[in-house]
Amino acid sequence: MGKPKAIVDRETCLACGGCISVCLQDAISMIASKASVNKEKCISCEICIKTCPVGAISWEED
Ligand code: SF4
Ligand code: SF4
Repeated sequence: MGKPKAIVDRETCLACGGCISVCLQDAISMIASKASVNKEKCISCEICIKTCPVGAISWEED
């Protein structure tokens, strides 16, 4: 039982890179031209969710 982690909806992601720039944990990288969250690094700060211009990032269900 941990905090929910950010997850990217690959269908919605435009690969703008904005979330990668703002994540202070360096938890997001581009994989196959879409943003992808490394759950081991994510501290659930919500910055990426607030930054994504198309709402592609949300909290992953446990
Ligand atoms: S919630 Fe915070 S730590 Fe987790 S991926 Fe988004 S910006 Fe990074
Ligand atoms: S900010 Fe949103 S659209 Fe841009 S790379 Fe991240 S998830 Fe994709």
